[in-house]
Amino acid sequence: MLRKFLYTLLLVTGFTGCASRLPAQIPLVKPLAEDEEVRISREFRRQAKKQLQLVRHPEIERYVDRIGRQLLSPMGPQPFDYRFFVVENSQLNAFAIPGGTIYVHTGLIERVKSTDELAGVLGHEIAHAKGRHIARISGPDPLSLLALLGVFLSGGGTQAQAAGALGQALAATRQLAYNRQLEQEADTLGVKYMAEAGYDPRAALAFLRLIDQERMLNPVDIPPYLMTHPLTQERLSRVEAVVSSLRTGAAKREAADPIRKIQTLLRLERHEADAVIGEYERVLGQDPQNAEALRMLGLAYQYRGKWTEAREHLERARALDPQGPGMERDLGRLYTQMNEYRLAHDAFQRALSAEPKEPLNHLWLGELFEKEGKFSEAVLAFLQAHTLSPLWPEPAQRLGVVYGKMNRLGDAHYYLARSQLLADEDELALANLERALKIFRPASPRGQLITDEIAAIKARRR
Ligand SMILES: [Zn+2]
Repeated sequence: MLRKFLYTLLLVTGFTGCASRLPAQIPLVKPLAEDEEVRISREFRRQAKKQLQLVRHPEIERYVDRIGRQLLSPMGPQPFDYRFFVVENSQLNAFAIPGGTIYVHTGLIERVKSTDELAGVLGHEIAHAKGRHIARISGPDPLSLLALLGVFLSGGGTQAQAAGALGQALAATRQLAYNRQLEQEADTLGVKYMAEAGYDPRAALAFLRLIDQERMLNPVDIPPYLMTHPLTQERLSRVEAVVSSLRTGAAKREAADPIRKIQTLLRLERHEADAVIGEYERVLGQDPQNAEALRMLGLAYQYRGKWTEAREHLERARALDPQGPGMERDLGRLYTQMNEYRLAHDAFQRALSAEPKEPLNHLWLGELFEKEGKFSEAVLAFLQAHTLSPLWPEPAQRLGVVYGKMNRLGDAHYYLARSQLLADEDELALANLERALKIFRPASPRGQLITDEIAAIKARRR
């Protein structure tokens, strides 16, 4: 109770500190301790998992995460871990929760014309999170997401109340509008992050112009993104000025833009394979050498389990466009599903020599080894993926499963716990850690580590 009171007090002082006056310079307000923000993020994610339909597809998860990491990489160590999630929702929206958790709707991913445009949106959201903008929001209605999120942190209440509060919090993200100063800061920093990470900052401008045009064509149905990030002519002009002042170059760009593939995967995940097949068969009818159409058809047939058609289209796509993004990886995965192990290994070898640090290449290679019954090799591949992407639950979960098959139950429970922790499932993680502890014995070095970990998880729940 006392904690809740102090917390509320902290919020109130945080807001009154910057509510009434708008200084010319961005104030260095620090309304919440950093670990409180991390806590907010974790609690929000736990609730959001129940309320939002998150897209759980390794290629799509990794795609968005990769853009986020690339934007973050020039910044060096950060006070909190950024996490990126895709929400299945047709509304054009993206939002950042304090503590570095960023959500982007499929409706936005499907509307952008390039990965650079999406990088612009993510760069802007990173700037909001990094600058702690929600905590600094002032305005006529300082109803804040933070205050609503405080409900979760109080620890009381039923699950239904907590879920209701999340609904309100989500509604608040739609009502909440960043003020002009914060929007300007996010715009300026966002395009700067893009340029530093090797994206084209002009894409941010192209995206803003697109949604501005849509707003003029349809003034009634304003996308949520524009409500939380109000767009004015002044804002557009400023972004334009910032972009033209930056040196643009395509320094660290990927060879080809995977956006079309990701957009198609999103549709396939929504069971639109037949529509995708219809569309691209028509394209192919007009233009039989269209590598992109062949590629999308291959993926769609793969979804429908039509292996022969999938293989034929993907192999033709590779012949026409061998540098297509993730081309060899896609073929490796298809060959794995078709039990063509030798071809699969060859494809993954090429995929890995092109992108040795892409965790997906290691993940799917591990899957191949696992299918072949080569569990030790599978473990090594999954460990590589886990090391390259330590916040991603998928490789840890696969490690747990394959250790189980090897009858190494201590490791199995340990890695399942790791993946559950990354997925914010603390209760399940604790249960698995307790089981691992019994197997390793508390006195062993491994047991000591697990004991410490259990204590840390329990401590943060208090
Ligand atoms: Zn904004």
